[in-house]
Amino acid sequence: LAESLAATRPGSFAGLGTAFYTRLPAAPLPDPYVVGVSADAATALGLDPSMVSEPDFAAFFCGNPTREWPAQALPYASVYSGHQFGVWAGQLGDGRALTLGELEHRGVRNELQLKGSGRTPYSRMGDGRAVLRSSIREFLCSEAMHHLGIPTTRALCVIGSDQPVRREEIETAAAVTRVSPSFVRFGHFEHFYAADRIDDLRKLADHVIDRFFPECREALDPYLALLGAAVIRTAELIAQWQAVGFCHGVMNTDNMSILGLTIDYGPFGFVDAFDANHICNHSDTQGRYAYRMQPQIAYWNCFCLAQSLLPLIGAHHDESVRAERSVADAQQALETFKARFGPALERRLRDKLGLSEAQPGDNVLADRLLELMHKSRADFTATFRGLATMSKHDASSDGPVRDLFIDRDAFDRWAADYRARLATDPRDDAARREAMNRVNPKYVLRNHLAETAIRRAKQKDFSEVERLLTVLRRPFDEQPEFEAYAALPPDWAGTLSVSCSS
Ligand code: AMP
Ligand code: MG
Ligand code: MG
Repeated sequence: LAESLAATRPGSFAGLGTAFYTRLPAAPLPDPYVVGVSADAATALGLDPSMVSEPDFAAFFCGNPTREWPAQALPYASVYSGHQFGVWAGQLGDGRALTLGELEHRGVRNELQLKGSGRTPYSRMGDGRAVLRSSIREFLCSEAMHHLGIPTTRALCVIGSDQPVRREEIETAAAVTRVSPSFVRFGHFEHFYAADRIDDLRKLADHVIDRFFPECREALDPYLALLGAAVIRTAELIAQWQAVGFCHGVMNTDNMSILGLTIDYGPFGFVDAFDANHICNHSDTQGRYAYRMQPQIAYWNCFCLAQSLLPLIGAHHDESVRAERSVADAQQALETFKARFGPALERRLRDKLGLSEAQPGDNVLADRLLELMHKSRADFTATFRGLATMSKHDASSDGPVRDLFIDRDAFDRWAADYRARLATDPRDDAARREAMNRVNPKYVLRNHLAETAIRRAKQKDFSEVERLLTVLRRPFDEQPEFEAYAALPPDWAGTLSVSCSS
């Protein structure tokens, strides 16, 4: 595995050279143990899931062998910068992550990255570690998002250790192995732009285009095309987040993937009782990253990316007009965010309502439902899942959904209009239900579910991590044996608070 990871493949990030990263061995954790493994992720990488039982598995995935690796094959921490909470933060970089290298399976290349593997030149004041709690959350949510069909980095495994780590209280260390075709962030571009290192900026953009957006090479202005492609991917991603009630929590530009993947799972959360202003990150006192803010924040982040790419854009224009034209071109590419996001979310909401073709008024129907949900603090996942049980012919089956709303009369008025709309839809109830259950998940990683798995894991019982992974592999399927995992959060969940501390 080590050899395979270290192999130099053409077009790899490692090939960009030392201006982009620092190579160093991991600082392995003492007496590591396996907390969780995603067999699906292993299979996708072409690894044999039975490798888990090999004696050095835990050691390998907390970076144990890397000290012996030849210097040119050592893992690396990449350098990037970024805007945190809307403020330019300067240089950041992989402060507690190391990329081990790439694996290729069936023509698909993925980088493997250890998170929590010790200090790097970019650790600033941090200890380079990740705690068990946040590692389990990242592991479970990456895999859950993948199975929800939402673009995301994935996670192969979590390895734990009893090594103490100081946060608000003393916790223990862990390392999660993340998997992605690329970990390049908007912040990588901002880094070279801010330092006025335009040759490196171009090298980075060329790498991303050649590997991930080859069609941009054919465009009159490949860098403008790259911006457009990243903007579209981001808009589509955020539409998926909004449609499933996912809050990222820290949408800083260094946490935005150039491939439009969900990346950097920290204080994320799925909305339970729907509140459009829901803030999942306890440290986000201003609500900058509240649920309803995510689209505009994503747009703002794309603006930062656009600015960073400006020095590369417009080379085909005459020098006398280049500055002006390239700004206009970039602005136009940015505007595609709005052109894509609105319709993408509308389409997803229409699917969630089980409307097989668009009609005028559908947006109003969806918005009215969201407003009612907001007023009633109706559970996001349960409401949408429950809609499929309503019948287009009579109101007698409305009960389970209706019960989620405080204002029953307002719900009944909406339900009557919904039913009238369904009457115009060609599909019958059975066909509609089937389609709706493929887009409205029954199971999501609710905070309290993760918390229960974490509490047990702290007692060295990892069975709940495995069970959750199993449930979340099939989020759209009825799983009668796991009915409890679809239930509304218990009262104690209301006191859970998730912060940036991880
Ligand atoms: P985040 O807010 O999690 O995206 O992290 C922002 C920056 O802080 C990144 O450069 C991280 O690598 C770095 N960082 C976060 N936690 C730690 C830590 N415990 N040790 C070192 N660096 C960290
Ligand atoms: Mg980050
Ligand atoms: Mg983070």
